[in-house]
Amino acid sequence: MKKTTSILLIYTGGTIGMIKDAETGALRNFDFDQLLDKIPELKLLDCSIASTSFEKPLDSSNMQPEHWAQMCRIIAENYDKYDGFVILHGSDTMSYSASALSFMLENLSKPVIFTGSQLPIGDLRTDAKENLITATQLASLHKRGKPVLKEVCLYFEYKLYRGNRTTKDSAEYFEAFTSPNFPPLATSGVHLQVFEKNLLRTKKKTLLVHEKLDTHILIVHLFPGISAELLRKNMEEPMVKGILLKTYGTGNAPSEEWFIDLLKNLLKRGIPIVNVTQCSTGSVQMGNYETSTSLKKIGVVSGKDITTEAAVTKMMYLLAQDLTLTVFKTIFETSIRGEIS
Ligand code: ASP
Repeated sequence: MKKTTSILLIYTGGTIGMIKDAETGALRNFDFDQLLDKIPELKLLDCSIASTSFEKPLDSSNMQPEHWAQMCRIIAENYDKYDGFVILHGSDTMSYSASALSFMLENLSKPVIFTGSQLPIGDLRTDAKENLITATQLASLHKRGKPVLKEVCLYFEYKLYRGNRTTKDSAEYFEAFTSPNFPPLATSGVHLQVFEKNLLRTKKKTLLVHEKLDTHILIVHLFPGISAELLRKNMEEPMVKGILLKTYGTGNAPSEEWFIDLLKNLLKRGIPIVNVTQCSTGSVQMGNYETSTSLKKIGVVSGKDITTEAAVTKMMYLLAQDLTLTVFKTIFETSIRGEIS
């Protein structure tokens, strides 16, 4: 029977693609050409599957912006040929990559679903098969001839999330990811349930790929007792183009004069400072407490309820566009890919 949709699997590395060598018992990268043989269940899906692989599969701790650009290029080159894309990726930095691709792929109107696993595909108790099979099935969902999902997603352990809303929060459990401030896009139980109201709605426009990113970013995670001298040395370093300030609660920070002056001078130099909370759920609301009023007054950008992963990659994307501080602030505080509420 002719399959109705076609999916491209892009293997970048990670635990999912490792298999126990029959002779030595050691874990090694999987020969990706044999994928369909190793997971015969994939053949039962109502979609045809092709695959491509990074020449050198990576542990995702080695993932770099150039690899994000490579993924974008593979998608762009194959955009008209396939109905959806599944990216197999290590779980460690998957949320960074999913966030990055959401900004780098503008006007995306087909699904790009990241997935991986906590145990290798050859392991008896592996979570890889379910993750890969369901991610592929979700990528092939169509309604009236159009893809149901038109955004960068992350599928793991029975839940499909918007990629730029996720964070890895467990190194132990199969349920390794959460989406702290946004509900799942779909769940996989007895039935696949898609929550249409949570999906990103995009008008059909030509796909634009933004490969240029600026990585000169500093993350400053506040803690009581943080050294003024150390902060000054790092934040005033001329190479720094943007700062992510990880604050307390709803975006609060020390109100000491030296600290506010330091931020004020950086902002005067045109360096954007984005306020992101250290809390795992909830939102920055500058002005709620006296300890965030001055941040608001001097022009610190509100990260609202963005994750750190999405904030870093959105900053890389916006810094590469040479915007004025005012324009940067306006765009950062606006949801451009569904990354903030
Ligand atoms: N260290 C691995 C990676 O991120 C872990 C995993 O795949 O889950 O590539």
